[in-house]
Amino acid sequence: MVITGKGVAPGAAVGSIYIYNEKYSRPAESFVPAGKEQSQLDRYLTVKKEALDELEEVRLSMQKVDPGKAEIFNAHKEIVDDIIINEEIPARILNERWAGDWAIYQVYETVLGVLKKTPDPLISERAADFDDVRSLLLRLWYGRKKEELSALTQPVIIAAEELMPSDVASMDKEKVLAILLEAGGATSHTTIIAKSYGIPTIMGIQGLLGSVKHGQLAAVNADEGTVILDPKDDVVSEYIKKSEIFNKDKQETKTFLDTEGCTNCGVKIDIGLNINSVNNEELDASEYTDSVGVFRTEFIFMNRDTLPTEEEQFLIYKIALERYGERPVILRTLDIGGDKSLTSMELPREDNPFLGNRALRFCFSRPDIFKTQIRAALRASYYGNLWLMLPMVSSLEDIRKAKQIITCTKAELDKEKKPLKDFKTGIMIEIPSIALIAELAANEVDFASIGSNDLCQYLCAADRMNSAVEPYYQSFHPAMFRLIKETITAFNSAGKPISICGELGADPAAIPLLIGLGLRKISMGAASVAAAKRAIASVTVEKAEEIARNVLGLSTAQEIEKYLAL
Ligand code: PEP
Ligand code: MG
Repeated sequence: MVITGKGVAPGAAVGSIYIYNEKYSRPAESFVPAGKEQSQLDRYLTVKKEALDELEEVRLSMQKVDPGKAEIFNAHKEIVDDIIINEEIPARILNERWAGDWAIYQVYETVLGVLKKTPDPLISERAADFDDVRSLLLRLWYGRKKEELSALTQPVIIAAEELMPSDVASMDKEKVLAILLEAGGATSHTTIIAKSYGIPTIMGIQGLLGSVKHGQLAAVNADEGTVILDPKDDVVSEYIKKSEIFNKDKQETKTFLDTEGCTNCGVKIDIGLNINSVNNEELDASEYTDSVGVFRTEFIFMNRDTLPTEEEQFLIYKIALERYGERPVILRTLDIGGDKSLTSMELPREDNPFLGNRALRFCFSRPDIFKTQIRAALRASYYGNLWLMLPMVSSLEDIRKAKQIITCTKAELDKEKKPLKDFKTGIMIEIPSIALIAELAANEVDFASIGSNDLCQYLCAADRMNSAVEPYYQSFHPAMFRLIKETITAFNSAGKPISICGELGADPAAIPLLIGLGLRKISMGAASVAAAKRAIASVTVEKAEEIARNVLGLSTAQEIEKYLAL
């Protein structure tokens, strides 16, 4: 039997299935005898404390892998401590003699019901977090140990409905041959972490848990998104060979990390780093990258009770600028809204948040927040080579308005005699309306970076978070490359730096094409750098230009993907 999904991290593997399921079903409705209420409540309080300790432990281990996502576990800790829940559970136990597990289940169920009913996807998504916290509390209540993906005794293929980033972060990578999931999307946290570990991963396998059994033999091809269950001996041998080739290739790729980004004919390609924070785990990649290609500063605004002050932001930006010295640090101004929310302030509900008051638009509506960030960034300019980048620009008016605010802020700082250095101002190209007038935009700014993640969502009219329209979100759509080509040409002609910092730039299959379209600066997460340098070293500019010419002659995403895979 063959089951299929979408391969999101490449590779092949053969091994036995390990079904991982941390969800706890509804306990029986039960009550404790009179006089036992207090001991039941004490037990709940112990479980709550254990949950907070476990979440902190996971948060710390996650911090090493992905500091931005580590914040999720702070959010989970806040749920454990939620005031209403912690009034309600003790009240049910003490006043109505509910058993602890029933109280936990039912009180969370009520909250979940309310959250799930709200039409705002940002709020309804929080339901998944509450559900996870409830499962954690119930597991601890029953005294069960975490199904330890960190303590697997033999190599396995994990099959699950969904994995939490904490599951992936804590798993013993050496023992996980592949990951198969029913849910998930190509940009989910789990995928990003699995990708960084180099574990072959397939998501969106419908009915997965109904199709596989614990211990069942499976052959996984994540490049094609297929899983063969109970493979015959010849298929097993074929997949063992495939996985050996994949692992050898992974080792070879690692050797490219310390090399320069340079084509086979000696043309330098600047390698930028995408960061969400200034933790050492992220900034250690400064040793083998030429710049910060995008610092997604919104992550320092997220999952905290108050907005970061000017001083706090200044100290953070200063760390990145000092670390990179004379090399550019592209600091992107606040890109909040869409899929990114703030806990420190409630944003008004919008029917289409990705088309709404997001990023620069939000900053224009809150000049106090925007100016505070610009003041902090310009003050930090003194410590390195600052390039300030504006997200979600849709018109020249946007650019002019933002530049005016930046100029005024700089004048203010000059008046205060704050030491500043020269800095550049640039834009993200992620809305088709600005890409189509790139030559006009190039006259107004110092540089630009192509945000292919959003560019694709707006060009193809397909929500990047919605797995139902995933087939319409085509990063390899011919329109993408026509638009990217025009954008690159416009900036190259104006003599202004142009780069890419969306996921397309991290894809080794797309890199020769992007070079062929004229790009000489590419930015990506640390985990993608070695493979990108390898892809760059594998082509000459002449060959890359031939690839670009051929791709521009193709008519569908499918044709282009097939051609680039050759
Ligand atoms: C992009 O849109 O490609 C991008 C880099 O920005 P983000 O993914 O943060 O929206
Ligand atoms: Mg974007």
